[in-house]
Amino acid sequence: TMTKIGFIGLGNMGGPMAANLARAGLDVTATDLSIGAVDRAVEAGCTRGETVAATVKDADVVVSMLPAGAHVRSVYMESYGVIANAKPGALFIDSSTIDVDSARAVIAAATEKGFAMADAPVSGGVAAATGGTLTFMVGGEANAFERAKPVLEKMGKNIFHAGAAGNGQVAKICNNMLLGISMIGTCEAFNLAEKLGLDAQTFFDISSAASGQCWSMTSYCPAPGPVPNAPSNNDYKPGFAAGMMLKDLRLANEAAHKAKAATPLGAQSEAIYALMEAAEKDGVDFSGVMKLIQGAL
Ligand code: NAD
Repeated sequence: TMTKIGFIGLGNMGGPMAANLARAGLDVTATDLSIGAVDRAVEAGCTRGETVAATVKDADVVVSMLPAGAHVRSVYMESYGVIANAKPGALFIDSSTIDVDSARAVIAAATEKGFAMADAPVSGGVAAATGGTLTFMVGGEANAFERAKPVLEKMGKNIFHAGAAGNGQVAKICNNMLLGISMIGTCEAFNLAEKLGLDAQTFFDISSAASGQCWSMTSYCPAPGPVPNAPSNNDYKPGFAAGMMLKDLRLANEAAHKAKAATPLGAQSEAIYALMEAAEKDGVDFSGVMKLIQGAL
């Protein structure tokens, strides 16, 4: 029999993800607080879910793609929600990017009621969600991961098991913290080189073949010129918006405080992206820190 999916949260990411599951031939019931979002999912081949309870009651697998931890806690743990209304034995997959503590609390609550659950946040934006090429970082028991994998493969390309519950979120925030730090460092280096009379292309040619090499430089160069398809050559249109980087850095630093892990550059990176937000430039690509550092934001 065909796997029945209940999909909750049909926004910029969840909409195209649910559409890809339907396109792959799965029986998808989809719901959102926004009627327009549900209408679009129905056009893409999903069945309308009137409520969360109705969406999950016959589902073999529930997938959620919600804004933040508070939404995930509510949708799973309140009486109207997933845990109270799902079919016994169902598998839950939350692909939202949320705080580690919320991910672990919701998985513990689901597990206590006999459900298998994985956290499976994604890397890759709306284009990857639409193209079915997302990367999933999955936390949860091996059995939950093995059951989730065939469903995730219909929405993504690379599926990693990161370990126990919450470890998908850990992998995501640690990766993005490193990305934020490396991007800011790359911007500083290109700006200083230029101030000292070294042009961006020449510095790129040298540093990308030397020990300063990193993804922020070679694949996403924040100085216009060297990497033709980078947002720096398209007026810093995202790409990956500064506001989304800020969200992930806040999650990383919040987790670092709780774990008593020192993240001095993570904290500084959050402060720098908060300046972009304060300047109402959070919709600019995260490599737009280049302009902030140039005093030209
Ligand atoms: P979004 O705001 O576009 O979509 C979230 C959807 O959840 C909205 O349609 C909203 O109506 C719905 N929702 C909220 N509460 C609900 C409830 N109680 N019941 C039903 N629906 C509810 O956000 P998005 O861009 O799709 O992002 C979703 C998650 O993915 C976030 O955690 C985000 O950080 C993460 N993410 C986003 C991107 C990106 O490029 N947009 C990339 C990677 C990860």
